[in-house]
Amino acid sequence: MLHIILYLIMTAVCFLLLRDSLARQLACKTAELDKLFMENSGLLKDKRRLEEQNSGLVKAFSQTLELYELTKDICKSLEEVRVFNIFRQNLEKHIGATDCRYIKDSAELVKYKDYTVLPLDSSENQPIGYLACGNVAEEDRDKLSILAQQLLIGLRRAVLYQKVSELAIIDTLTQVYSRRYFLERFSEELRRSRNNKLHMCFLLADIDNFKQYNDRYGHLVGDGILRQVSKTIRDTIRQIDFIGRYGGEELSIVLAETDSEQANFAAERIRQAVASDVIKVYDEKLKVTVSIGVSAFPENSGQLNDLIELADQALYQAKATGKNKVCFSPA
Ligand code: GH3
Ligand code: MG
Ligand code: MG
Repeated sequence: MLHIILYLIMTAVCFLLLRDSLARQLACKTAELDKLFMENSGLLKDKRRLEEQNSGLVKAFSQTLELYELTKDICKSLEEVRVFNIFRQNLEKHIGATDCRYIKDSAELVKYKDYTVLPLDSSENQPIGYLACGNVAEEDRDKLSILAQQLLIGLRRAVLYQKVSELAIIDTLTQVYSRRYFLERFSEELRRSRNNKLHMCFLLADIDNFKQYNDRYGHLVGDGILRQVSKTIRDTIRQIDFIGRYGGEELSIVLAETDSEQANFAAERIRQAVASDVIKVYDEKLKVTVSIGVSAFPENSGQLNDLIELADQALYQAKATGKNKVCFSPA
């Protein structure tokens, strides 16, 4: 009997000891698990933070790329309107805005009450204009104002270039008089001819099918052609005559102290000189022709604008009747 009691007591003690040991081990494991759980949730938080940072960086990178592309495209032009058109095309790609406009006159803004309007200005100046865009989402507003800064840079470059060109006497591409300076000289020459009762002729020369040359060989070759044709004409006229770049590929010439009959010879000489010249640009050897319209003072008119208009009509006639020819305004 005593044995049995002792056995039961021993068993109970063993059981208690075993239970305490198991409880301690369990507490230990739970503590380890808690620790692991804490570490794991820390790692999860880090992972989430890194993912956010990463997506922020990807977004910033793509925005930088967009900005770079936009700036690069805008820099391709020095014409205000073209700069804006390039900007608008880019904007449509990056922001779902619709109907973006470049508004120069602030009085026009009343028409765009529902649009997002951004003044295009650098702090020290008057705005050079306003950008108005329809349907700009709230989250795209910041992006729009960053892109608008690039537009402003492009537009200011174009406006500055325009101002410098207007002040210039010589056209940089062709090295003949700029249009503004040519018209000044033309006006003086007309006054001198009137005062001294001298004849004078005005010629408008336009390269034939020039667009095709640009399309086929590229604009750089087109520029080279324009430069060479200007030089050929400048070398063909006398020192008292003068030549200017009237428009894109239109050259204007004043033949001083020259009547219609003499102008006919001079204009033909110009036409033939251009037609026979072999133009070497880059690796190309090309030939081009010009059509020429002529008006005469005083036979056609005593007014500068009329003389230009009449030469333009004669040029149109030369183009319409086969090109590579000289046409006179009828007296
Ligand atoms: P047409 O015989 O009737 O005169 O035909 P065209 O192709 O010469 O006339 P059009 O007026 O259609 O095209 C003139 C072209 O001249 C269009 C324009 O891109 C190009 N042009 C204008 N200025 C420049 C310039 O500075 N450089 C170059 N490369 N091209 C120019
Ligand atoms: Mg032409
Ligand atoms: Mg033309």
